[in-house]
Amino acid sequence: MGVMASNPCVAPRQASVVCCGLDNAGKSTILSHLCDDLPSVIHPTPGMALQHFIKYGVQWRVWDCSGTGASRGMWSLFYPHAAGVVFVVDASDRDRISCAKDELEALLLHPDFRKRHFSLLLMLNKMDLGENTMSAVEIETILRLKHLQVSQRNVDLHVQSCSAIKGTGIEEGFRWLADSMSSSG
Ligand code: GDP
Repeated sequence: MGVMASNPCVAPRQASVVCCGLDNAGKSTILSHLCDDLPSVIHPTPGMALQHFIKYGVQWRVWDCSGTGASRGMWSLFYPHAAGVVFVVDASDRDRISCAKDELEALLLHPDFRKRHFSLLLMLNKMDLGENTMSAVEIETILRLKHLQVSQRNVDLHVQSCSAIKGTGIEEGFRWLADSMSSSG
């Protein structure tokens, strides 16, 4: 189902989303393509930054969460308020892909998400780094996404390869998320 073009006479619907992933995955750089007022130089997010922007007929409220080890425990503060999740994976970070898997699993099994329907946009970022990156298939296998699709039917999942540096894949991913959240009410 396609997203309708925004009509200036109709107030855009609102969507609250939590953006998670390990530190350095590229979360803030991805969001910088969507928020007009973010600086061009991205600094590490201290704790959490709330971003508002209107795109694709949706008024977005996105919690950009810090992904450093100590801050990850704070992600769940935002889960009860989120209709969608953007989980960003650094496709070039082989050393920490299993850590990303553990964090994603913890999110999926969290009581705030375990039983309700929600949309999960998985952004496989830094695909511009060529042969230094893992392929989408490799990452999907490591993250056991096939198993997820069978075992957690409450999750509407979309996997999107992207490069936040080049700005590719971001629009496709967020359009899908807008669509998915709209069809699940
Ligand atoms: P965050 O900690 O997840 O918010 O990550 P940042 O957005 O701060 O990005 C961390 C670093 O990765 C920065 O130096 C970015 O310039 C770099 N980066 C982000 N996205 C990409 C990408 O798609 N490709 C490459 N090559 N570097 C990226």
